[in-house]
Amino acid sequence: MRIKFWGVRGSIATPERRNSRYGGNTPCIEVRLDDGSLIILDCGTGMRALGKSLVRDAGGAPIRAHVLLTHFHWDHIQGIPFFLPFYSPHNTFVIRAATRRRQEFEAVIKRQMIYPFFPVGSEKMHATRVFRDGENWPIKAASAIVKYTPLNHPQGCVAYRIEADGSAFVYATDTEPGSPEHDRALRDLATGADVLIYDAQYTPEQLCREKKGWGHSSWLEGIRIAHDSGVKSLILFHHDPDSDDSTIDSLVEDAREEFPAVAGAREDMVLMLRNGVLREEYQAPRRSGQGRALPVPTGSVLAADRVVRKGTIALTR
Ligand SMILES: [Zn+2]
Ligand SMILES: [Zn+2]
Repeated sequence: MRIKFWGVRGSIATPERRNSRYGGNTPCIEVRLDDGSLIILDCGTGMRALGKSLVRDAGGAPIRAHVLLTHFHWDHIQGIPFFLPFYSPHNTFVIRAATRRRQEFEAVIKRQMIYPFFPVGSEKMHATRVFRDGENWPIKAASAIVKYTPLNHPQGCVAYRIEADGSAFVYATDTEPGSPEHDRALRDLATGADVLIYDAQYTPEQLCREKKGWGHSSWLEGIRIAHDSGVKSLILFHHDPDSDDSTIDSLVEDAREEFPAVAGAREDMVLMLRNGVLREEYQAPRRSGQGRALPVPTGSVLAADRVVRKGTIALTR
């Protein structure tokens, strides 16, 4: 499968020069399975660019996707009104938000576009949107098996585990450690995963002090989970709006002191995950002036048994 990051920022979009290398759009991840089917994780502002890309690539053919929402905080739904494929009657989407009843989250999503919040009503979205609930999890989304567990976050959130193409990854954003029940459940969900995409909004020091109780986590807790659950690679995600590029660089470097297979999620980053092996697909820089080209050659491997310090994943320096 191919995992592409369209938004990696937490809380609010921050389109600023000082963080343009990691990017300012809020969470949205495209997961393309080897059979071509599409899963979208979260609908933050990054979803707008994903939509344009899907329309361009489809060339008029219908677009079908499974959409998995973690929760309904603004940073995870704000891309919905701007997602072009929702407006075409040729397209079909199956939308889920584990633990939420269908009526509840369908209404939430539609209310997002009522007067006076948005000039176009949800009824103008002519795509077939199937809101699902009440299923026996784990579920099948295209050819993937999807599991979930609730996370410790104000008003609730869930982590998803996606198993497909001989691999497994866990998407656990918006979560705070310290609740024994949630901590244990997330470790269970992550057991043996090849990749953990994890909320690393704060430093470990902030998490102990001024940001305690805010519902987010740090790279250190991500490493603890990776160790406890036998996760091979850790991707730091949901970067704080106040973290500029150099701040995130230093968080990644601190994390690599403890666990080599760490990278910071970056807009446009593409990871190929097949049979448990993770590689970064080389992408030309989207625009000039945002730092040097990614130094990761095609075929480099992000895995705990590789020597990261020789530069195999030196993608954030
Ligand atoms: Zn968030
Ligand atoms: Zn949240």
